[in-house]
Amino acid sequence: MKISIVGLENQLGATIPFDFLAPSPRLIGPSGEEIKAIGPIHLQGTITNTGSCYHLDGKLEAKLELCCARCLERYQLSVRVPLDENYAKSGAPDAEEDWRRFQGDEIVLDETIEEGLNLSLPLRGLCDNNCQGLCPICGKNRNLEKCNCKEESLDPRLAVLGELLKEPLGGGGKNGST
Ligand SMILES: [Zn+2]
Ligand SMILES: [Zn+2]
Repeated sequence: MKISIVGLENQLGATIPFDFLAPSPRLIGPSGEEIKAIGPIHLQGTITNTGSCYHLDGKLEAKLELCCARCLERYQLSVRVPLDENYAKSGAPDAEEDWRRFQGDEIVLDETIEEGLNLSLPLRGLCDNNCQGLCPICGKNRNLEKCNCKEESLDPRLAVLGELLKEPLGGGGKNGST
């Protein structure tokens, strides 16, 4: 996705607004899963010629489909990312190091969009703060279905037995001592 700066060049202080829809870049979530955007990404803001650079100020909005960290169901998340970037023509002598570069008279926004969306991804996103997650015993989605598994009300003496039962039977003798 590109924005033309034609009309801004050599016009100190000149500003142009932008407002458009862009296709979503390929996004990879924190656990390596691919994340889909639902519909296009909405970008809105202004580009201003500050004299030393082109300053982009605005926001992007997108609706993403994520996977709940507790129940593993897909859910939708609306994100709104503020954009605040400086762009300098590559080779511009007074450009600062952390400014992005562009060539010709078009600023390519792909990297800005991708980074903004990546920063908006939750590390452990939940479909709902009250998500009940999956039952650790039977694996049922407890938001949809109640199960009769009892996890916490185990008699402590039985818990000890449970631990013993988890030990390999018959003294498996990995270290040969039994
Ligand atoms: Zn959930
Ligand atoms: Zn269960």
